[in-house]
Amino acid sequence: MKSSKRILALFICLTLVFSMLVGCSNGQQKDENNGGESEQTSSIKPGKYIGKASGYGGPIEVEVEMGEDKIEGITVLEHSETVRISAPAFERIPKAIMDNQTVNVDAVSGCTASSVGIKMAVKDAVEQSGADMDIFNKKLEKQEVAKTDEEKTAEVVIIGGGGAGLSAAVSSLENGAKSVILIEKMPALGGNTILAGGAYNAVNPEKQKAQGIEDSIEKHFQQTYEGGHKVANPELVKVLTENALDGVKWLEGYGLEWKEKIGSVVGAMWERSNQTVEPLGTGYINVLEKAALDKGCEILLETKATGLIMEDGKIVGVKAEGIDKNYTLKAEKGVIVATGGYAANPEMVRKYLSDGVYTKDNLPEKIVSTNAPGLQGEGIIMAEEIGAKVIDMEHIQLLPMPGDKFGPSINVEHSFFINKEGNRYVKEDGGRDEICLATFEQPDGQYYMINDSKIIPENRLTLSGEKLDNLIAKGTVVEADTLDDLAKAINVPAENLKATCEKFNSYVESKNDPEFGRAVWGEKIDKGPFYATLRYPALHHTMGGLKINTKCEVLGQDDNPIPGLYAAGEVTGGIHGANRLGGNAIADIVVFGRIAGKSVMGK
Ligand SMILES: Cc1cc2nc3c(=O)[nH]c(=O)nc-3n(C[C@H](O)[C@H](O)[C@H](O)COP(=O)(O)OP(=O)(O)OC[C@H]3O[C@@H](n4cnc5c(N)ncnc54)[C@H](O)[C@@H]3O)c2cc1C
Repeated sequence: MKSSKRILALFICLTLVFSMLVGCSNGQQKDENNGGESEQTSSIKPGKYIGKASGYGGPIEVEVEMGEDKIEGITVLEHSETVRISAPAFERIPKAIMDNQTVNVDAVSGCTASSVGIKMAVKDAVEQSGADMDIFNKKLEKQEVAKTDEEKTAEVVIIGGGGAGLSAAVSSLENGAKSVILIEKMPALGGNTILAGGAYNAVNPEKQKAQGIEDSIEKHFQQTYEGGHKVANPELVKVLTENALDGVKWLEGYGLEWKEKIGSVVGAMWERSNQTVEPLGTGYINVLEKAALDKGCEILLETKATGLIMEDGKIVGVKAEGIDKNYTLKAEKGVIVATGGYAANPEMVRKYLSDGVYTKDNLPEKIVSTNAPGLQGEGIIMAEEIGAKVIDMEHIQLLPMPGDKFGPSINVEHSFFINKEGNRYVKEDGGRDEICLATFEQPDGQYYMINDSKIIPENRLTLSGEKLDNLIAKGTVVEADTLDDLAKAINVPAENLKATCEKFNSYVESKNDPEFGRAVWGEKIDKGPFYATLRYPALHHTMGGLKINTKCEVLGQDDNPIPGLYAAGEVTGGIHGANRLGGNAIADIVVFGRIAGKSVMGK
C-alpha cells in the first residue's frame, strides 16, 4: 500500500537527467557569452527546486533541476502513493514531462491522482524557478498511433489481471498448460483485488481456536447463504466455503504471509477474516504475478479484450486491442473471463436494478464507487454477445465506506458508528446492506466510525497498512486526545458522543447490545487519543454476472456449458446472492480462479 520511500525512489522512479535533443526553449534566453547583446530574456534562474503537491496517498515531493531554458532533471524524493498501482505514473509522468518540456502531459489511467500529484509537484518547482508557465504548461497535441495486426496462440487465454485471472493463470499452468496468455487492459495488474482491504474469509481452526473463536464450514456456508438472502446457488456457496482454507494454504505455498490474528471485516458477520501482512491487496497480486511469470505465463498489459471468437459453437479465442496492436489471440483449450464486476459503471448498475436490496428509487443519484476505473462490465457484455446467460444482475452491494475511507481499521470489533448527532443507529457487525440502508436514513447519509488508541500499533499503520498520520494530515481521520475534543473537531454534540460511548462500553462489558443486537465485541473504547473517520456508502460489488456451474464453465441460455468458455471472480453471478459478506470475495476469486484453471485443462 502506501509506503513512503525517500530517495529510494531514485531507484524505482527516476532521476532523468539528460540533454534534450530537440530544443524547447523557454522563450528568449539571456546569452551571457555575448555580453547580453541578444534579445534573449529567459526568466529561469537555473538550479534545483523542491516541488510539493498532494497525491492519492499523501504529499509528493520532487526535486526539479532547471537549466537555463529547460527542465533538466526530475527526481522523486518522497511519496506515499499506493505501491504497484502508482508505479506506471512514476515511470511515465516525469519522462513525459522531460520529453515534452511541459507539465501538461496526460495522466496515466488507473493512477490518475498519483499522476496529477506528480505533475503538480513538478509544476510547483518549475514555477519557483521563474520559468514562463505559458511554455512549461503548454497543452500537447494528441498523437495517433498506427496499429498493426498480430496473431498469437496459447492453450489458455485469460482476460483480466486481477486476483481471479492470476489465480486461474497459475492454476492452469499447475494443471499442465504449456502456454498461457493473460491480458489486462490497464497499465498495471491488480484490478479491484489490489485495492481490497485484503480480508479473506476462511474457517481457519488453528488460528481461530487460539483466539477462542468458535466456527465451522457449516456456519460459514449458512452465514454466506442467509446473509445473501438465500438468493445464491447453494452448490457454489458450498464450493466456496469448503475450499476457502485450501486457497489460504495454496497462496501461502507461493509465499503469501498471513497475519496471526483473525478478525471480522465490516459485513463479514463473523471473525474468520484472514489478513495479509502486505498492505491492502498487494500481497495477493505480488505473489500471484510472480507465480504466474515463474511458470511461464505471458502477460500483456494495456491490452483490452473487445470480443470473444466463436467457431462452430465453441469459444476459440479473443479479439483484443493493445497500444499499437490489434490482436487475435487463439486459445486452443479455452478462454477464461476474469474481468471483474461493473461497479465503476453506474449506468450499467442502474440498468439492471429492479427489486433487489437497492432499487432505482433508493439508490442515491450521486453515489461514488470504491472500484478501480477498469471495472466496466465488459466481460459480461462480451459473453452475453455470444449467448452466455447472466444471473442476479439486480443485486449490487454498497460498501458502507468509500475505498479511501477505511480509517484506522476496516474491522468492526474495536469500533462503534455514530451519526452526525452523536448517536449509534445500527449494529456495526450487521450486513453491509443493513448498515448502508440505515445510513441513508441518517443526517446527510453519513456516519463516523469511532476508534481509540488501543487499535493503533506502534508503527502507526492502519489495519490495511496505510500510514495513519497521512490519513490524519489529509483530514480522512480526525485524532483528538479526549472525546470532548473529538466531538468538537467533527462538530458532533459532545454530550451525545460521550453518552453513546459510555453506553457502548457497558455493552462491551456485558457482551450484550439491547439496542441493536450487536454480537462481535472487542475492547472498550476508552483510551485516548480517539479517532473519527467520516464514511458514507459507495458502489462496491456487483453480485450478478455470468452464470457458471461448479466447474466454472459459463452456461448458455439453455443452461448448458458453452464449450471453451470459463469464468471466475466478480464477473460471475450466483455465489453471493443479494448481499456479499465482507471478506468473501477474495476467497471467491482464489477458489474459483483455481477451479477455472483446472477445468480449462480438462481436469
Ligand atoms: C476498495 C475495495 C476493497 C475491497 N476489499 C475487499 C476485502 O477486504 N475482502 C474481500 O473479500 N473483497 C474485497 N473487495 C472486493 C474484491 O476485491 C473484488 O471482488 C475482487 O478483488 C475481484 O477480483 P477479480 O479478479 O474478479 O476482479 P479484479 O481484481 O477487479 O480484476 C479484473 C481485471 O480485469 C480487467 N479488465 C476488465 N475488462 C477488461 C477487458 N475488456 N480486457 C482486459 N482486461 C479487462 C480490469 O482492469 C481488472 O484489472 C474490495 C473491493 C474494493 C473495490
